[in-house]
Amino acid sequence: MAQLYEITPARRARVFAGEVKVRVVRAGWFRPDAGGFFGVVPRPLWTGLTETDERGRLLCRLNLLLVEAGGKRILIETGTGVRMRDKDREIKGIEGGDPAAALRALGEDPAMIDFVVVSHLHYDHAGGMVDAAGRLNFPRARYVVQRDEADAAHGDELRLAGLMEVEQLDLVRAAGQLAEVQGEVELVEGVSVLPTGGHTRGSQAVLLGVPTDGRADDGGERAVFWGDLIPTRWQIPVRWTSAFDDYPIQAVEVRNELVTRAAAEGWWCYFTHDPGELPIQIEATERGFRVRENEA
Ligand SMILES: [Zn+2]
Repeated sequence: MAQLYEITPARRARVFAGEVKVRVVRAGWFRPDAGGFFGVVPRPLWTGLTETDERGRLLCRLNLLLVEAGGKRILIETGTGVRMRDKDREIKGIEGGDPAAALRALGEDPAMIDFVVVSHLHYDHAGGMVDAAGRLNFPRARYVVQRDEADAAHGDELRLAGLMEVEQLDLVRAAGQLAEVQGEVELVEGVSVLPTGGHTRGSQAVLLGVPTDGRADDGGERAVFWGDLIPTRWQIPVRWTSAFDDYPIQAVEVRNELVTRAAAEGWWCYFTHDPGELPIQIEATERGFRVRENEA
């Protein structure tokens, strides 16, 4: 197996429109249950894409992005962190998951992060907002979460009980570092969060180098970080709804709309749980969307 923590070397960083520089931080491994992950999709349809282990789990990664743009450093996602119970870590096959340790191991200082974007408040994305002692892992950062997501975490829906990182959210809020946003918001030029819903009420994706309203297109390349709206390349077929999608009808509609745009505009795609090389592009065919094979 490959190393626990890895980062795209600086010389191989991808640069998107507006000088948005992106590196992938591999912050560890996790093994979601394949039945839950593929949800409504019958096994024979996905079994050719990837293998399961003897416990029916998929080998996935905890991918974060380190983005540099407009003189700021932005970390997208925080992994599982280290506050889970050992039994849960064992069931989910988690190795590593500590975003601050990953950055340090890779020669990056967590105190240099200006923004932390959390796609949604599930354990494998928001679990690393704080450390074992409850201190913020990113002492200078503003943590960007959609208000709908924070509200859902504090809501009383039984399905969500214990699934959202409410305690961590409140620690970030108490430290005065929570930036609750509503709707599409540009953090720095060329880096925007885009609410998608679907997976959770306030899930958000991140657009990189995609010109927002009124801004000229400089002709550079564009990219997207999907969050769990599309966790890996295996879930590009837009109707492949996971059992973890709280709003499946919305998830399919939003995926279709955004994947259509991503294919048409050649967006490079970063997936939060994909174990393979990133980014990749998507193409539309008469039989649906698929990974575009780029010549090496
Ligand atoms: Zn996830």
